[in-house]
Amino acid sequence: MDIRDEIAKTAELTRKSCIEKRRGGPFGAFIFDEKSGKTIARGFNRVTSAHDPTAHAEIEAIRAACKKLKTYDLSGLSLYATGFPCPMCLSAAIWANIKNVYYSKSYADAAKIGFRDDSISNFIKGGLKNSKILKISKIKSPALDSVYDEYRAQNAHLGGAPY
Ligand SMILES: [Zn+2]
Repeated sequence: MDIRDEIAKTAELTRKSCIEKRRGGPFGAFIFDEKSGKTIARGFNRVTSAHDPTAHAEIEAIRAACKKLKTYDLSGLSLYATGFPCPMCLSAAIWANIKNVYYSKSYADAAKIGFRDDSISNFIKGGLKNSKILKISKIKSPALDSVYDEYRAQNAHLGGAPY
């Protein structure tokens, strides 16, 4: 299917999910295989209806694609989203080895309709130091250290390759 048709279909399904069914914000996403021209999976924001702050469209699409393909690795696939993905969703795309992200609306556009993606992005750009947004503290824990040590020993044969 032509990518423009996929985008139009996503817009239609996003409208249905958000406006008609009131599942969450006006955000939709899909994982697309540019080589075959096929959509692997779609996702739509369900934050308010699922009582899940991580149920962003991009996360939903990544989870659905991984489940469908039975892998955590979406190398070679692209992520299309209605809005510029928030830091959580950008991270999820990187964790999934997605190399191309396409979006339509900006953080500024999202802010105009009541979403704070820009504030989280600014928090990260500011070095994670604004304790009014989030206070992050390091703890010392031999118990946690030992889990890392055991994991490293158990997986030494992998040569430390990151996944
Ligand atoms: Zn997000």
